[in-house]
Amino acid sequence: MGIRQQKAEAAARAEIERLELRAEVDIRLEENRWEYYANCLGESLESFFPSDARRVEAARKICSMCVVKEECLEYALNNREDHGVWGGMSERQRRRILKQRRLV
Ligand code: SF4
Repeated sequence: MGIRQQKAEAAARAEIERLELRAEVDIRLEENRWEYYANCLGESLESFFPSDARRVEAARKICSMCVVKEECLEYALNNREDHGVWGGMSERQRRRILKQRRLV
């Protein structure tokens, strides 16, 4: 088996695991417990309240693999979380989304 096929199979397995976890999350969401599935659990809090662009990107990378990214972002938007990275979005990106929503 070639390296490309191995990578494709590994990616397919990861996607299946993500979808299975997502299905479990959907059930838990009814209980409003999305935080239990946060990919940032166990990460230092400071990582998600970064002081420079490099650290913002590091936090966003963790968010990119998070199955509750959408819920996290909506929570932050609804609760006007002004600081930190939430749902894979920086403070500036969230402000832009809120501004766009106000315009619609
Ligand atoms: S999207 Fe990012 S900040 Fe939100 S729960 Fe997931 S890993 Fe944590």
